[in-house]
Amino acid sequence: MLDNLVQGEYEVECLDCEVSLFIVLGEDGFFSCSDDYALRDVERTPLRPADPAELEGLAKQLHDRALADGQPVVALRLTYLFGRAACTDCGTVFSVADSVVANAIPDW
Ligand SMILES: [Zn+2]
Repeated sequence: MLDNLVQGEYEVECLDCEVSLFIVLGEDGFFSCSDDYALRDVERTPLRPADPAELEGLAKQLHDRALADGQPVVALRLTYLFGRAACTDCGTVFSVADSVVANAIPDW
C-alpha cells in the first residue's frame, strides 16, 4: 500500500457511510474529498496529521526510516497517512491508515 504514498493518493470507502473518498497527500495538498477532485471542484476536508512524536510501532519505524533515508516529503506524508480524515459526506472522522487497511482487505 506504500506505492500510493509516493503517488500521493488513496481511494477508500468511508467506514461509516461507505461513500468513496479520495485521500490526497501530495503536491495538491493534504485533504479528503469525494468524487474526482482532478476533474472538477469538489468539497475538500483538510487531513489532520499525526504528531511525529506520538507515532508508535510500524508508523514510527516508517517515519524514522524515511527521515534517515533523506526523504522528508515521504516522512511528512506518513504523518498524514497515520493521521485522521473526515468524511465529506457524513462528517465521520476516521484513521486514514485504518481505512486504507480496511479497503485493502477483500470482501468475502
Ligand atoms: Zn461517511
